[in-house]
Formats: sequence, C-alpha cells, structure tokens
Amino acid sequence: MAVDIDCVVLGAGVVGLAVARELALAGREVLVVEAAEAIGTGTSSRNSEVIHAGIYYPPNSLKARLCVAGKHMLYAYCAEHGIPHSRLGKLIVAATPEQSAQLGQIALQARRNGVDDLYEISGAQARELEPALSCDAALVSPSTGIIDSHALMLSLQGVAENHGAQCVFHTRFSQGRILDSGEFLLQFEGDEAMELTANCVVNATGLSAPTVARRLQGQPRDAIPQAYFCKGSYFTLSGRSPFSRLIYPMPDSAGLGVHLTLDLGGQAKFGPDTEWIDREDYSLDARRAEGFYDAVRRYWPALPDNALNPGYTGIRPKIVGAGSPAADFVIAGPSTHGVAGLVNMFGIESPGLTACLALAQTVRDALTQTPHLA
Ligand SMILES: Cc1cc2nc3c(=O)[nH]c(=O)nc-3n(C[C@H](O)[C@H](O)[C@H](O)COP(=O)(O)OP(=O)(O)OC[C@H]3O[C@@H](n4cnc5c(N)ncnc54)[C@H](O)[C@@H]3O)c2cc1C
Repeated sequence: MAVDIDCVVLGAGVVGLAVARELALAGREVLVVEAAEAIGTGTSSRNSEVIHAGIYYPPNSLKARLCVAGKHMLYAYCAEHGIPHSRLGKLIVAATPEQSAQLGQIALQARRNGVDDLYEISGAQARELEPALSCDAALVSPSTGIIDSHALMLSLQGVAENHGAQCVFHTRFSQGRILDSGEFLLQFEGDEAMELTANCVVNATGLSAPTVARRLQGQPRDAIPQAYFCKGSYFTLSGRSPFSRLIYPMPDSAGLGVHLTLDLGGQAKFGPDTEWIDREDYSLDARRAEGFYDAVRRYWPALPDNALNPGYTGIRPKIVGAGSPAADFVIAGPSTHGVAGLVNMFGIESPGLTACLALAQTVRDALTQTPHLA
C-alpha cells in the first residue's frame, strides 16, 4: 500500500511545531494537522512565557535535562532568528530566616541539574536590586528569561515550511489504526477531512494527547495515562511594575507559588495559581484575586488594593491527579509501547515551552527506536 505521507505531527502548539521543524530539517516529509484555526491557540498561548533555568526538577528527570538543554538551545535560536526575548533574571525570595535556610538546598538541586550560576544575596542586597521587595534573603537566577512565544512559534512554522513541511488547520484527528504493514491509517474531520496513511505519527496534542492516543487503535492501552486538568489563573497589575526581574516566592508542595512575571512590554502579571478542573474551561473567576493579594503582599507589602485585574487562564496537561507528586514528561516511543514510528507526548506541562527544541530532538531520536519493549 502506498504511503501518503512520511510523518504526521498532530497538534500545532509550540511542541508540535518544534517537532515538525526538527523532522523537516532531518529531511523527512512532514504534515502538521491542527484542529484549531491557527498555530498555538492552546496551552502554548496561555502560559507565563518564561525561559526557565531548570532549578527545581528532580535530577536526571526529563524535565531537568530537557529544560537545561532546551534553555541553551532556545537562547541560541532566539539570537539566530531574531525572536524577541530578554534574559532579565529571577529572584527566589525567602520571607523568613527559616525559608532562607532552605535556599542553599535549592541552589544545590539546581547545581545537580547543571544550573551552576545561582547565587544567594541578603535581604538588603535584594532591596538594592528591587527596592519594592520585602524578603529575608534571595537566590538570583541570572539565566531565567522571558520570550515572545508567538514569535517563536511563527518562526518554527516558517523554518519547518521552508524545509518542505505543510500545515493544515481546522482539521481534527478523529481516529486511526495501525495496519498489518506497520503503517498508520489516519482519519481527519473538518476543513481538510481526509484519510491518509503515514509511516510515523507524533501525538503532540497537549491536553488531548491521552484521548488522541486512545483513538489510535493498535497500541497497548496500559501505556496511555489518564488526563487531568489543572487550571492556573493570572491577574495583571494596573500601572507600572515596580520590579524589573521575575519574583518567585519559595516553592512549596503545591507548586511554585503565586509569582510575578513580566512580559516584553514590561506588563506585570501574577500567577498562575492552581485549580483542579474536569474539562477544558478557560473562564476566569475574578474572585480568585482575593487569594492573590495575600500571597503577593508577603514579598510586595505595598501592593495597592484593587490593583489586580483578571488576566487569563491556562490549563496544565497533567497525567497525575491532585495530591500526587508532579509527573515527569512522558515521551512514549517504540521502546515504551512497542509500535514502530509512533511517539505520544504526555504531560508536557511547564517547562515545555523552554524545552521545546530539546523535546523535538528527543522525539526525532525516539522515532528511530526499534519497537522492543523496555
Ligand atoms: C499556566 C501555565 C503556565 C506555563 N508557563 C510556562 C513557562 O513560563 N515556561 C515554560 O517553559 N512552559 C510553561 N508552561 C508549559 C508550556 O506552555 C507547555 O508545555 C507547552 O505550551 C505545550 O505545548 P504543546 O504544543 O504540547 O501543547 P498545546 O499548545 O496545547 O498544543 C496542542 C495542540 O493540539 C491541538 N489538538 C488537540 N486535539 C487535536 C486533534 N484531535 N487533532 C488535531 N489537533 C489537535 C490543539 O488545538 C493544540 O493547538 C506553562 C503551562 C501552563 C498551563
């Protein structure tokens, strides 16, 4: 049976586009199929746009390795392709002497991950950098930055297309199966309703990845995780930001805390918080601001009343539920599920934007794995 296309990438978020670029640069024929009307309308346009340093992830995890490698690749890519970004640095602030005692542990964890540029400063030194800040001590992360994620995605699409990739929109993968020949028979509905065969499939559909995997019959079901959704809300600050770096409280078991990030225009926003939900719902409950005032005033006591405005929400594509330790990225290739030419990407939450180029290389390599179960 003639194969219609070599590689199909499902999903045109930052990860699917990075994978498409990587495969196109490797000389493969690539078709990107996206259900929405344009690139990057999902999680890729609903995040903090931070280039993470790679500090907190467990050593040797995919998150740690791909964040650190991806950060270096991303800064180089931005410089080469003129993507707006800024390496403005971040402060991790300890509110109390007890918290200050934990900063060394965070720096050690970062060093284990290959992030060796963190340094500790006193509360007084932190206020010299950021006069509005209240803290006992802080860790400075110079390699943390921010990026225009839409410019990045447009560039990734452009490079992929310049190397022969094609993208179709308004077209949703509906179902498929693995043929006896080992090829994939895929069906799509929407503007480009079609049926085609492919040698390779990369499932980069973010929140939908477990559902999409279940609709591609012929792979073991037990290798497909359950999807959980964890919403994060952002509130923006009225007026000018008093900070010129990103400000993060100490992380706790629930996450990174309500932190302050800046966009490239200097607009400050706070968030994301955490709210477990059971469906894709991007509405923002303005009452959640109440919790933000308390959290932010622990490091910025002068936050004025009524200064926070509802911003936007994003949903973390989780593969474990509330109360479980955060899962690692899952890049399930032939050595995981035994199907040649198939890669499912599950749980690509933060730092997926930072790691996108490194994730793409990992997918390229996974596609060449022989289908022996590990
Ligand atoms: C609140 C929040 C803050 C974050 N902040 C950061 C940060 O500061 N730094 C960082 O590095 N990372 C951050 N992340 C993580 C980062 O945003 C994600 O890892 C990344 O955007 C995931 O990209 P993706 O391409 O996998 O998914 P998506 O962007 O969701 O793309 C998936 C695409 O698949 C499409 N799709 C779905 N189903 C189908 C189908 N059946 N057929 C065809 N197409 C389909 C969707 O329409 C969508 O466009 C954050 C995430 C969240 C939720």
